[in-house]
Amino acid sequence: MRVYEVAKKLNLSSGKLMKILADLGIKAKSNLSGLTAEEIKKVREFVLEKKPSPPEEKLVPRAPVVTFLGHVDHGKTSLLDAIRKTTVAQREVGGITQRIGASEVEFQGQRIVFIDTPGHEAFTAMRAHGAQITDIAVLVIAADDGVMPQTVEAINHARAAKVPIIVAINKIDKKEANVERVKKQLIRYDLMPEEWGGETICVEVSALTRQGLDELLEMILLEAEILELKANPDADLRAVVIEGEMDRQKGPLSTLLVQQGILRVGDVLVGGSIYGKVRALINWKGKNLKEAGVSTPVRVLGLSEVGRPGTVFKKVANEREARQLAEKFKEEERERSLRKKNLLTLESLFQQTEENKKRTLNIVLKAEAQGSLKAVFDVLKKLENDEVELNIIHEGVGDVSRSDILLASASKAMVLGFNVGVSPTNRALAKSENVNIREHRIIYELIDDVEKILKGLIEPKYEEITIGKAEVRNIFKIPRVGTVAGCYIVEGKVLRGSRVRVLRDGKTVGEGTIKSLRRFDQDVRELSSGLECGINIEGFKEIRKGDLIEVYERRRIGDR
Ligand code: GDP
Repeated sequence: MRVYEVAKKLNLSSGKLMKILADLGIKAKSNLSGLTAEEIKKVREFVLEKKPSPPEEKLVPRAPVVTFLGHVDHGKTSLLDAIRKTTVAQREVGGITQRIGASEVEFQGQRIVFIDTPGHEAFTAMRAHGAQITDIAVLVIAADDGVMPQTVEAINHARAAKVPIIVAINKIDKKEANVERVKKQLIRYDLMPEEWGGETICVEVSALTRQGLDELLEMILLEAEILELKANPDADLRAVVIEGEMDRQKGPLSTLLVQQGILRVGDVLVGGSIYGKVRALINWKGKNLKEAGVSTPVRVLGLSEVGRPGTVFKKVANEREARQLAEKFKEEERERSLRKKNLLTLESLFQQTEENKKRTLNIVLKAEAQGSLKAVFDVLKKLENDEVELNIIHEGVGDVSRSDILLASASKAMVLGFNVGVSPTNRALAKSENVNIREHRIIYELIDDVEKILKGLIEPKYEEITIGKAEVRNIFKIPRVGTVAGCYIVEGKVLRGSRVRVLRDGKTVGEGTIKSLRRFDQDVRELSSGLECGINIEGFKEIRKGDLIEVYERRRIGDR
């Protein structure tokens, strides 16, 4: 008898039964016909003996959030559609559904939330931008095609996010379908099917004939139970953007998934630089809701801008507070982006792991061919020692892709490329995501580089880049403030807090930092050429009329 069938008989949840089995030392897999009558008896006795445990305070079970991952054309979208149709049709025939970024289905009286955009790129992009919402990944593999490059990517992305994987072997209606071959391929990626003694649940399905869909949903619910997904509806609201779009009539729309608390019409929200009062909540069936609970995706009307996936929203008392928080965030972000430019990410990669005894360097490895990939991989593994470990979270053949960069960003990894290219677009993405790409064409140079990184031997080298020039036209002595230079910006820009060099007759006579920058009576952060301003320099008092102030930034050489 299968575990979930036994569970049903004993009036237990499957998750609970799995736990009891573990406590009793009985090895059983959810999908196996492994339980003997003797074992079932043991479980029954155990259940009768045990008093019910007190309920955990406030925490209530919540619906799982599921994302379909897999190679292109293996049937992710078709499966999602098929599942929605099956479950929607049961309830309300002809119900109009709209794509809002996620949908809910009900199966055996329980809700499951599906993310509309399949694929690991969207999945990891959201993670890179601050939030993880997926609880379970369904890895779709076409039975006629087998494991393909993006299947492997999907596996690695799900693993990096520590999300459990259920395998859906799709298109079993096809003549060419070969389920056994797919299962054999999975072993290579440490996904040993349950029926062969492993941990991975594999379900054979067809989006076309709908075969196996119920079993897939059952397995999702089972996995959810094992994960014991819970949330506190009384806690402060936490809702994450799944997707956003601009509507001509309705204005900015964002779909939010409630992760904690309850979202209500009239709530004032703030998330990053976006804020607003909730005017309406619409679910995926186009129905207006007054409130949305945990694990409910809803389209929100009334926010100031279109939300970026991954942004987390919370609730505040009123619009004034929301606006202030949003402004503060914007300001901080500007500062962050200025500071970020001067920081190489490698240190932060290490810092992050310093809590562990062994330091780990996460790597996304790309090479031009399978042979060299294997060679580089082997070489890297040899560089590990007692103190450092190289964790290759993804390896693949081909140029550094968008998804590689997002994965590196989300997992605090660096990208190591061996004889591969990086498109300008992806290079720009890496820069904005603060991802370090290291490219090599010669194996011993690569070894050298990685060794240096591992030894923490990369000596920082800086270069100075002039970002603006200002001529001193007047000097003011102001009590309590000191010497203020009345200047005219002749080139570039002047930023408060940046470093300056003071030149007189072409020679440097002093250095310092801009302590305050004023335009008329206002303190300002930044001014551009063609404007007059007052500059107060910290660290150099002897400024004179006719001096030239050069504003510069220190940038680490080798930063991209
Ligand atoms: P995605 O790129 O992974 O989202 O794949 P799609 O859902 O777009 O499916 C790709 C193609 O495979 C489409 O032409 C589907 O009609 C077809 N397809 C999907 N599932 C099945 C299936 O179970 N059986 C068969 N025969 N074809 C399928």
